[in-house]
Amino acid sequence: MSENSNLDTVLGVTIPSRHARGRLARIGPALDAILASHNYPPVIEQLLAEALALTALLGSLLKDPAGQMTLQAQTESGIIDLLVCDYLGGDLRGYVRHDPERLAEAGPSPSLFSLFGRGYLAITFDQPAAKERYQGIVPLESESLAHAAQSYFTQSEQIPSIVRLAARKSESGWIAGGLLFQHLPDGEEGRERLHTRLDHPEWPHVAILAGSVKDEELTDCDLPLEDLAWRLFHEEEEVRTLTPVPLARGCRCDPDYVRSVIARFPPEERAEMVGEDGFIRVDCAFCATDFPIALEDVA
Ligand SMILES: [Zn+2]
Repeated sequence: MSENSNLDTVLGVTIPSRHARGRLARIGPALDAILASHNYPPVIEQLLAEALALTALLGSLLKDPAGQMTLQAQTESGIIDLLVCDYLGGDLRGYVRHDPERLAEAGPSPSLFSLFGRGYLAITFDQPAAKERYQGIVPLESESLAHAAQSYFTQSEQIPSIVRLAARKSESGWIAGGLLFQHLPDGEEGRERLHTRLDHPEWPHVAILAGSVKDEELTDCDLPLEDLAWRLFHEEEEVRTLTPVPLARGCRCDPDYVRSVIARFPPEERAEMVGEDGFIRVDCAFCATDFPIALEDVA
């Protein structure tokens, strides 16, 4: 695929007069690279594509360049028992663990509830510079991942928010897009909130404009995100955009790290890990890479 600056990018937007901030994200080649490591059925690819768009939106809210955002959906007995995505400095990765037989029985377009059953979505922000770690959890009882993320902010964070996610498979590959807008009346991102009015008159206006975005716009790789922001908010007094952040597929699995983990086991346990081929096999769930580790290489 040729370079397309409308893909693999996340754009910050602020509407100062309405005390609103937002993010617009679109992923293409990076998404294909992530999905290519796995061999998921279309339903799972669609879900992971949307989850990665959400990951880009949430991750780009981090102020710490070394900050990490992790999205984890977990269930007791759903068709999907685990979905994990994370973000670090524009690098995205993710994977899904599911039961293929039960998925096949669920038909071509199962609801979020039939995929997850009674599940939870955990969103964790890690900001090492500020030594901050924050985790919020919401039940996955909504109709979509976007709604679950929206209720995470509205209910557990008391931040009026709107989230939209879309993904489709085009001729040249998968495209996922997302939009997040929030009302921050104190004008400071992340400051302690003593009181938030969820019925602030500025917010419904922003929510209506942001909510008018169409799935086709979110996933239109010919539509620059700046133009989309302008299309949605052109009647506003002022719309500011931040420097776009490039997104890439990035896995942080590292053979040296894997060796250091194995080295912590007692020698007899290490010897038991060796397979028939003479190597200890360690698999990275995110990128489905198999690392053959030779026992003599473990310090
Ligand atoms: Zn990996």
